Amino acid sequence: MMVKKHVRPNPQRNVKGGIAEQERAIPLSNVALVCSTCGPVRIGHEVRGDRKVRVCKKCGTTLDK
Ligand SMILES: [Zn+2]
Repeated sequence: MMVKKHVRPNPQRNVKGGIAEQERAIPLSNVALVCSTCGPVRIGHEVRGDRKVRVCKKCGTTLDK
Protein backbone atom coordinates (compact mmCIF):
# COMPACT_ATOMS: atom_id res chain seq x y z
CA MET A 1 0.00 0.00 0.00
CA MET A 2 1.43 3.34 -1.05
CA VAL A 3 0.50 6.71 0.34
CA LYS A 4 1.48 10.07 -1.04
CA LYS A 5 2.93 12.51 1.38
CA HIS A 6 3.47 16.16 0.72
CA VAL A 7 6.86 17.06 2.12
CA ARG A 8 8.17 20.45 3.04
CA PRO A 9 11.81 21.17 2.35
CA ASN A 10 14.01 20.57 5.35
CA PRO A 11 17.63 21.49 4.62
CA GLN A 12 18.80 20.25 8.00
CA ARG A 13 17.69 16.74 7.19
CA ASN A 14 18.54 17.07 3.51
CA VAL A 15 14.89 16.69 2.53
CA LYS A 16 13.63 18.24 -0.66
CA GLY A 17 10.11 19.56 -0.93
CA GLY A 18 7.57 17.82 -3.09
CA ILE A 19 5.52 14.69 -2.96
CA ALA A 20 7.09 11.55 -1.64
CA GLU A 21 5.57 8.12 -1.89
CA GLN A 22 5.70 5.87 1.08
CA GLU A 23 4.46 2.44 1.82
CA ARG A 24 2.23 2.35 4.80
CA ALA A 25 -0.39 0.13 6.30
CA ILE A 26 -3.86 1.51 6.86
CA PRO A 27 -4.20 2.89 10.36
CA LEU A 28 -6.34 0.59 12.41
CA SER A 29 -8.72 3.40 13.27
CA ASN A 30 -9.61 3.85 9.62
CA VAL A 31 -10.64 0.29 9.03
CA ALA A 32 -14.36 -0.21 8.99
CA LEU A 33 -15.28 -3.32 10.86
CA VAL A 34 -18.21 -5.39 9.81
CA CYS A 35 -20.66 -6.47 12.43
CA SER A 36 -22.33 -9.78 11.66
CA THR A 37 -25.76 -8.30 12.29
CA CYS A 38 -25.41 -4.61 11.36
CA GLY A 39 -22.86 -4.67 8.54
CA PRO A 40 -20.10 -2.02 8.47
CA VAL A 41 -20.37 -0.11 11.71
CA ARG A 42 -18.57 2.28 13.97
CA ILE A 43 -16.82 0.52 16.75
CA GLY A 44 -16.31 1.28 20.38
CA HIS A 45 -14.03 -0.09 23.01
CA GLU A 46 -15.00 -1.95 26.09
CA VAL A 47 -12.96 -3.55 28.81
CA ARG A 48 -13.79 -7.17 29.36
CA GLY A 49 -11.90 -8.55 32.28
CA ASP A 50 -8.30 -7.48 31.80
CA ARG A 51 -8.42 -6.85 28.06
CA LYS A 52 -9.92 -4.28 25.78
CA VAL A 53 -12.21 -5.50 23.06
CA ARG A 54 -13.87 -3.81 20.13
CA VAL A 55 -17.61 -3.73 20.17
CA CYS A 56 -20.27 -2.76 17.67
CA LYS A 57 -21.65 0.67 18.55
CA LYS A 58 -25.05 -0.30 17.25
CA CYS A 59 -25.82 -3.61 18.86
CA GLY A 60 -22.98 -4.04 21.33
CA THR A 61 -21.67 -7.28 19.85
CA THR A 62 -18.03 -8.02 20.64
CA LEU A 63 -16.07 -7.93 17.40
CA ASP A 64 -12.80 -9.35 18.71
CA LYS A 65 -12.37 -13.02 19.37
ZN1 LIG B 1 -23.87 -4.70 15.40
